[in-house]
Formats: sequence, structure tokens, C-alpha cells
Amino acid sequence: MLDTHLDFKLLEMCARCEACYHICPSSLNIEGYDPRAVIKDILAGDYEKWITSKHIWQCLECHHCLEICFQHYGFENAMTALRTLAAKRGVTPPQVKRGWDMFVKTGRLGEPIMPARKKLSLPEPGASGKEEFLKLLGVYREAKGREGTPAE
Ligand code: SF4
Ligand code: SF4
Repeated sequence: MLDTHLDFKLLEMCARCEACYHICPSSLNIEGYDPRAVIKDILAGDYEKWITSKHIWQCLECHHCLEICFQHYGFENAMTALRTLAAKRGVTPPQVKRGWDMFVKTGRLGEPIMPARKKLSLPEPGASGKEEFLKLLGVYREAKGREGTPAE
């Protein structure tokens, strides 16, 4: 449930502040991405519609809201909590599922483009850390079961 991920007292302050709405790049550029509405609905216990909304995946995680917040809280916490809940229920956009599958398979979210790296005189990319990641994932799955991994 959301109350295990969010501090509702801080969210009540958000409902009065609304500063995030005016600086968030997603709010400013994406129609329907509205921190004020999300916070209002969470506080009213009426957040189910956001679990299936594409908007919760449109947070850039730029931390701009965290930086300006006088509570050092940040609207991103609400979006992260909603995405976590959506992932636990298996409600993820296809792009997120594809990204997760690729990360598990290769340890990367994309393959390095070698000709471009060469052209820019960039060094050879380092190892992806895939083996270490898979070990950690195995430990996590053993401890927690398969709950919470977006690709499951
Ligand atoms: S997260 Fe901080 S800046 Fe954003 S609305 Fe809440 S109190 Fe205001
Ligand atoms: S972290 Fe997300 S919610 Fe916060 S300002 Fe950036 S895009 Fe907006």
C-alpha cells in the first residue's frame, strides 16, 4: 500500500504548497502530468487511477522538485511510490519491461555504439557488471521471492 512508501504528513504540506507544479519539467511540458492532482488523489485515497496512468512513468527523476522543496521531500517520492506499486502489480509499460529484460540479460540498458565511441575518441566501455548484478538479484529473489521485479 502507498502509506508504507509515503509520508502523508509531508504530502499534506504539498497540497498547500504546489511549488513542484511550477518547476517540474514534466508538468510544464506534458499535458495531464499534474503533481497537484496526484497528491490530492493520494490524500483522498483515490490513487488507483494513477497506477495505470502513463504519467507516473513520465517523471524524469531529475530531482528538481527535491532540490527546491523546503521539506526536502520532493514530488518525485509520490511518483516513485506509485511506480513501485504498479511494478508490484505487473502494470508496466512495454518499454519498461523491455528495458528490464535487457538489463538482466546484458547488465546494460543499451549496447555501446562502438563506431560513435571511436569517432569521439572515447575509451573502450568497461565491463557491465552483469555477473555481480545477477548474484545480487539471486540474493534478492531468495529473500523476497519474486515480488517487486518489473519483468516478472
Ligand atoms: S514536494 Fe515540496 S516543493 Fe513540492 S509541493 Fe511538496 S512541499 Fe512543495
Ligand atoms: S523528479 Fe520528476 S516530479 Fe520531480 S521535478 Fe523531476 S520530473 Fe518532476
